[in-house]
Amino acid sequence: ILCQQASFIKSASQVDQCPPDQGYEVAFAGRSNAGKSSALNTLTHARLARTSKTPGRTQLINFFALDDTHRLVDLPGYGYAKVPLELKEHWKKHLDAYLTQRDSLAGVVLVMDIRHPLSAFDRMMLDWANVAGLPAHILLSKTDKLSFGAAKGVLLKVQSTVRKEFGNRASVQLFSSPKRQGIDEAHAVLESWLYP
Ligand code: GDP
Repeated sequence: ILCQQASFIKSASQVDQCPPDQGYEVAFAGRSNAGKSSALNTLTHARLARTSKTPGRTQLINFFALDDTHRLVDLPGYGYAKVPLELKEHWKKHLDAYLTQRDSLAGVVLVMDIRHPLSAFDRMMLDWANVAGLPAHILLSKTDKLSFGAAKGVLLKVQSTVRKEFGNRASVQLFSSPKRQGIDEAHAVLESWLYP
C-alpha cells in the first residue's frame, strides 16, 4: 500500500491551513538531522522529503497524499541552536495545536538518531502525543552506525524507558535508511494506523 506513489499536497504553517481533516494521516517528527526525511523516503520508495543538512529548512508542516483519504505528514525538524527563538515558539505553538486538534491524525512516528535517543525534544513530542491520546512509534535511525550489540542495547534501554512512561502506547524499533533495515516493521505499524 505504501509503495504507491505519494504526492505532495500542500504546506501549512498553521493548523487552519491544513488540508481537510478527513480520513487518516500519520505524522513524522524528529530533531533536525535525526534522519526523518531519509526515513520518509525509504518508507515510501519516493523522494517525498528533501534530505538536507540545512538547519531549519523544513519549517512547515508538509502533507503528502497516499490516496484520497490517507496522508503522511512531515513535521518541522527541531533542535537546531541556529533557529531563532521566535521561530521555535511558532513551531511549538502550531505543532501542539496540530497534534491536539487534528482528528484524522492516527499516530506519530518519532525519528531519533540511535546515538542520541530521547532528547528533551523527543520527550516533549512523546508527552504531546500521549496527552493527545495518540500512539507513538520510535524509529531509532542510523542503526548502521553502531555494532549490532550496541544497537540492541540502546533498543532495549529505550523500550524500557518508554514502556515505563507511556505503556503500550509507544513502541520502538531499529531503523537504517542506507541498509534498508526495519522497513517491514515500520510498514506494519503505519498500515495498522492508516488502515485500521
Ligand atoms: P532530517 O533532518 O531528520 O530530515 O535528516 P536527514 O534525513 O536529512 O538525514 C540527515 C543526515 O543523516 C543525512 O546526511 C543522511 O544521509 C544521514 N542519514 C539519515 N538516515 C541515516 C541512516 O539510517 N544511516 C546513516 N548512516 N545515515 C543516515
